[in-house]
Amino acid sequence: MSDFTIDSNVPEYFGSQVFTEELMKTRLPKNVFKAWMKTKNTGCPLDTDAADVIASVMKEWAVENGATHYTHWFFPMTGISAEKHDSFISPVGGGQVIMEFSGKELIKGEPDASSFPSGGLRATYEARGYTAWDPTSPAFLHDNSLYIPTAFCSYTGEILDKKTPLLRSMDVISEQALRILRLFGNTTARRVITTVGPEQEYFLVDKKLYDQRRDLIFAGRTLFGAKAPKGQELEDHYFGAIKERVSCYMKDLDKELWKLGIYAKTKHNEVAPAQHEFAPIFTASNIAADQNALALVVMKKIALRHGLVCLVHEKPFAGVNGSGKHNNWSIATNEGLNLLDPGKSPKDNILFLTFLVAIIKAIDEYADLLRLSVASAGNDHRLGANEAPPAVISIFLGEELQKICDALESGQMIKENSNSEFVIGVDALPNFPKDTTDRNRTSPFAFTGNKFEFRMLGSSDEISCTNMMLNTTVAYVLKEFADKLEGSANFKADLNTLLKQTYIDHKRVIFNGNGYDDEWIKTAEGKGLPNRQTTVDAVPHYTDAKNIAIFEEFKVLTKTEIESRTEILLENYTKVLNIEALTMVDMARKQILPAGLCFSDKLATGVNTKLAAGVPADADKALAVKVATLNTAILAGIENLEDKLLGAKDAGDTVSTARYYRSDVFCAMSDLRAAADELETITPEALWPYPTYADLLFNV
Ligand code: ADP
Ligand code: MG
Repeated sequence: MSDFTIDSNVPEYFGSQVFTEELMKTRLPKNVFKAWMKTKNTGCPLDTDAADVIASVMKEWAVENGATHYTHWFFPMTGISAEKHDSFISPVGGGQVIMEFSGKELIKGEPDASSFPSGGLRATYEARGYTAWDPTSPAFLHDNSLYIPTAFCSYTGEILDKKTPLLRSMDVISEQALRILRLFGNTTARRVITTVGPEQEYFLVDKKLYDQRRDLIFAGRTLFGAKAPKGQELEDHYFGAIKERVSCYMKDLDKELWKLGIYAKTKHNEVAPAQHEFAPIFTASNIAADQNALALVVMKKIALRHGLVCLVHEKPFAGVNGSGKHNNWSIATNEGLNLLDPGKSPKDNILFLTFLVAIIKAIDEYADLLRLSVASAGNDHRLGANEAPPAVISIFLGEELQKICDALESGQMIKENSNSEFVIGVDALPNFPKDTTDRNRTSPFAFTGNKFEFRMLGSSDEISCTNMMLNTTVAYVLKEFADKLEGSANFKADLNTLLKQTYIDHKRVIFNGNGYDDEWIKTAEGKGLPNRQTTVDAVPHYTDAKNIAIFEEFKVLTKTEIESRTEILLENYTKVLNIEALTMVDMARKQILPAGLCFSDKLATGVNTKLAAGVPADADKALAVKVATLNTAILAGIENLEDKLLGAKDAGDTVSTARYYRSDVFCAMSDLRAAADELETITPEALWPYPTYADLLFNV
């Protein structure tokens, strides 16, 4: 175990690994800095001379700080970040080198794209792709390389990554939100930015124990394992005192994240034993997405230093909570006005109400998109399992905000401070106390005072997709609003009618009660809210006509790109289940069944010896029969699973294959697990081939 003391001079080293705007300002010639700012703010291309200067200054800084390589860092459809490192060396004859980096190399990279999932977009022989610098997200140093955040596209122009659509969606919502702001008389805001603060859950387990579990190594989760005598029932881990070893890890993690300019803010123990959380302070959504992906990499690396392994799977252990990620999301102007903050003056409030109603409509109409943005084999274990929100998407408003919405609907006056009265949507909104006490943890999409918290994401999810969906769908409704209201002769009255009608049409998506309640699921289905329980139910709706229409209208994604993404998500699901099933067969054949048979042998020998000696052997016999029965069940389970895997060949297209894995392979896995876990509970510790739940969950 390594100990770790934190260097408390945080302001001194915060962001020391980042090529910040401040650094650019001091190190770049004025005209070049200006050119870069223009590119950053407007997306216009940077001329080659300026790019050369920036590249050379960046390299100088990187080399001064120990870098030997650079990498274009991107987000292919694998869901994890990708990097290929090139050194700065350039031969100058006589066996000598200098360190060089050109503008061309900064702006564009050309990784071979053939081995990344493309969902049928490109044939392998024409799989040239390129990465393009995203100047809005700062470059940083990590592990002696200069990391340059980039977007990833094919030469034929299709986008192959998760970042590009997010950036496009941010532009789209900015444009539409600005139209609304202008209607309310705001002439100064130049850009509207969506902000995100992702809360990240994870587990820590001992590396030595981890190494003995093939399921953790290959699948990231336990595929077998009987429950430990203790789970999370005492609720003593949540916010509990942090053990020294974990605390050392957390301090080390904080320091690394701070050096990388990530605003690591909150850390605590979570509900399940060995489960923890880290949350940064929110920032612009594309930066939050980059930083969350980077944080995941760093979390895993730092754990190894402490003899630990950081598990970010959604459900590493059955029987205790899995890990999620809460996507806190809001919209703000470049001047710092949070559009989801009800504000103090009635004038701010009516602007807030307009955005709120737009969001209600967007979530109701496009719940299917949000749902599929968090669909994965891992997250299927959590959603609807009373540890995470159900698969039905609803909005929690809280009591105060609900009252306001009711008044909007009825057109009734509501009182402020008992002496003034307002008619909602006509005059404005009263100044109401914010529901800062939101502890409704069961809602998938909860208003929490000045932002919405989307709680369905899995811990390993890359957050770009969810935020791309949020931005695009809300932009779509804002556009509708702006189209209707621009040129209105009676703005106040028309706005009132629009908000009221929109609210009435979409209020079915609001639910302030307990989202884990089965009654609610029935009610929700009755209201026509989609309940897509698994990945295979959710993902195919990506290509529904209404969904393709909005992405194409805003040029966020084309139909072909959506089809390819659908294909990739389903293929990924199938592949994950296939790996899990093969791992189970491997463990069951090579570890579990041999252990069961060995125990069986010992019992049989014991029975014979005892009977020969005239000693009663009833317990031995009873146990021997039980073990033999379970061994038979395990062998049958293995063979059944192997058959199901063979049968997958004939399942058909991508959707049918994914469905087959869910219905047949998944069930065969569960049956095999049940028999093996039961055997574990009656087998002597010394014979059991790998560490148990008790070892893994309570040994750090
Ligand atoms: P809780 O656990 O109660 O949900 P936390 O404090 O752990 O709350 O997390 C709240 C998250 O919401 C933090 O990451 C915080 O920075 C983020 N947040 C706060 N305000 C905004 C905002 N305007 N936009 C986006 N995220 C926000
Ligand atoms: Mg939260």
